[in-house]
Amino acid sequence: MVFLRQIDAHGFKSFADKVNIKFDSGVTAVVGPNGSGKSNITDAIRWVLGEQSARVMRGAKMEDIIFDGTDNRQSMGSASVSLILDNTDKVLGEKDEVIITRKLYRNGDSEYFINNEKSKLRDITELFMDSGLGKNAYNIISQGQVDEILKAKPLERRKLIEEAAGVMKYKSRKLESEKK
Ligand code: ATP
Ligand code: MG
Repeated sequence: MVFLRQIDAHGFKSFADKVNIKFDSGVTAVVGPNGSGKSNITDAIRWVLGEQSARVMRGAKMEDIIFDGTDNRQSMGSASVSLILDNTDKVLGEKDEVIITRKLYRNGDSEYFINNEKSKLRDITELFMDSGLGKNAYNIISQGQVDEILKAKPLERRKLIEEAAGVMKYKSRKLESEKK
């Protein structure tokens, strides 16, 4: 199993300072007052996994995820988040540790990195496909999503089963090659 060891965020939503959020094995609970940034942590995970919808990120436009300043602190020009994943079970290739990074600049430029090597969103999507991870893989269950799964139409439910069964990668490659 892949284990999320640490999240490094800088300039992402309320995380203006460079923050390192470390997870130990077992259950982790994040507690804090309303608006203190608990949900911003799960937003950060979704975002690195490739979320493209500003609405899912709870904003109007993607730029809204960049720290936009407070009364006594200037807004920032970019946001960066890294997920440090324990891959000793070799689900995501051969390395013991996999680091996925996404950056966004105010001019709209976006960058992805796998182990500090510049990559494309597609590389990240492929890396996670069939691993049980990724932005569509139900690692993060938000409020209301349990209902959504229960009420899903047969075709949507089939996608869920296909991802769990590990056939998505082949389907996606087939579609890609048919386009060419
Ligand atoms: P609740 O208990 O109500 O669910 P929470 O702890 O989950 O709260 P979040 O929704 O994670 O809180 O955090 C919201 C906070 O993040 C707000 O204070 C908001 O101002 C701040 N925030 C969101 N986007 C940005 C941004 N781009 N720049 C600065 N702060 C931001
Ligand atoms: Mg919240």
